[in-house]
Parts: sequence; structure tokens; C-alpha cells
Amino acid sequence: MSSVRAVKVRDCVIGGPELVVMAGPCAVESREQIFETAEVVAASGARFLRGGAFKVRTSPSAFQGLGGDGWKLLREAADANGLLTVSEILGEEQIDGARRYVDFAQIGSRNMQNIPLLRSLGRSRMPVMLKRGFGCTIDEWIHAAEYVLGEGNEAVVMCERGIRTFETATRFTLDVAAVPIAKKRLGLPVVVDPSHAAGSREWVECLTLAGVACGGDGLLIETHPEPAKALSDGPQAVVLSDFPALVEKARRVAHAVGRSIPSGARLEAAAS
Ligand code: PEP
Ligand code: MN
Repeated sequence: MSSVRAVKVRDCVIGGPELVVMAGPCAVESREQIFETAEVVAASGARFLRGGAFKVRTSPSAFQGLGGDGWKLLREAADANGLLTVSEILGEEQIDGARRYVDFAQIGSRNMQNIPLLRSLGRSRMPVMLKRGFGCTIDEWIHAAEYVLGEGNEAVVMCERGIRTFETATRFTLDVAAVPIAKKRLGLPVVVDPSHAAGSREWVECLTLAGVACGGDGLLIETHPEPAKALSDGPQAVVLSDFPALVEKARRVAHAVGRSIPSGARLEAAAS
């Protein structure tokens, strides 16, 4: 498998021998929800707490996120559990406000070709996770990354999250081949998001394991304490109490392909 230039987000290296697990709800909904989630994912070995504060929803009548208050809660919950934060930035005007709260700026699938946003994040020097547009080729995805890199920002990580195909049994089709191809062509780490590809929690586990096996440098997984009550993407959220076992399975596949996923306990020991 091709080696990549590792990207550092604060003290976390993405693209090294250790896979980086990022997990949390689709959207930050409440203090209780995000704190409970942070505790469980940190104990399972995750390095990042994910959670959208500004959501891009297909329908304008769907929950749009808690906005700035969501970012504050995400930061507090992450800090309390030794985690970093990853959250979507929707527009150029949000970059300055995001800096205190967001360690890793997610560019969403629907924004992959928002060239002004790509350039602004490039100039901002914030580490960027660039999700693949669900209707975009690997070439187009790589060119989008070049807009960020072209402004002098080398901290770019790609994220394969599934593309639209004729298949309707899953929400999107996880393009596993895109992972080694993008790694080879761009020389940057690629993270796999099994959740948005699956669309249903039933398929998240197998896509997680496939994401590790095909060379993913990290995983971005949606989890919720009570998915039935989730305000967005509930059907694909892994039940929080099932999350530790999922990471344990991913850890076994990681070992099989010569990688590792740190355990939460080891991180706690390092912090004390
Ligand atoms: C998300 O991560 O919740 C999200 C909206 O993802 P995507 O942009 O891949 O649809
Ligand atoms: Mn989501």
C-alpha cells in the first residue's frame, strides 16, 4: 500500500501506522448527548469527537443544527475527554468563528467544489478534511484538494464517504478503490466514512472493516446514544453502547493489515 505524507492536527498524526478514529453524532443536539458520546468514544480509542453544528440538510424544514452553541458544546465535551474536534464549515464567513472550537475543518460532500471555500480554508491554514462529492470522480476530488494545497495549506486529509450509483439498497456506494487510488495519486491520507455510505446502521460495521482493509488512514463514524431520537441521520447512527465492540473489530482488521488503533486506556495513561 502506498505511503502518504502524514498530516498533523494538533498532536494527532493522520497517515502514520496508527489509524485515527473520529466519532460522534451527525449533529450536536444537547449537552447530555454530546458529553455522553464523548466519554464513550474516548474510552474506545477515538482521537476526535465529530458533530455538526451547522448542518446542510436536503430539506430546509429539517433540523439545521445548533449553530455556534453546537460548536461550544462540542469543544467542551471534547476537552473534558482529551479529544480533538472535527466539524463541518459551510462557508467562508464561518472560518474565523470556527477556529476556537474546531481543530479539523470538514468540507462536506455538497461543498467539495465550492472553490471560494476551498481557497479560503487554504489561506486559513486550518487542517482540512475534504469529503468527496457524491457525484464527483476521483480526479475532480483530487483537483478540489489542489485548490486548498495551492494556497500553501499542506494539512489536507481526504474522506471517501460514498458516491451516488444506480444502487438504492445503500444510501451511497462506498468506493473502496478510491482509497488506495487517491492515496497513490495525491500522496495524502484518506479517511473512510462508512456511515453516510451505508445509510443504515446495519451495514456500518462491514463498511468500517472494509475501510480499514483497503488502506483507510482513519474512520469517521456516526454514533448516537439514542438513534431513534436523533434529529439527523438517526438510521445510520451506531448505537453508542455498540461502539466499543465496533472499534475492537476494526482494531483486529487493522492488525491484520499491519496497522493499529490505539486503545482508550493507553491514551489515558499517556495523558496522566
Ligand atoms: C456529515 O458528516 O454529517 C455530512 C453531512 O456528511 P457528507 O457531507 O458526507 O454528506
Ligand atoms: Mn450525517
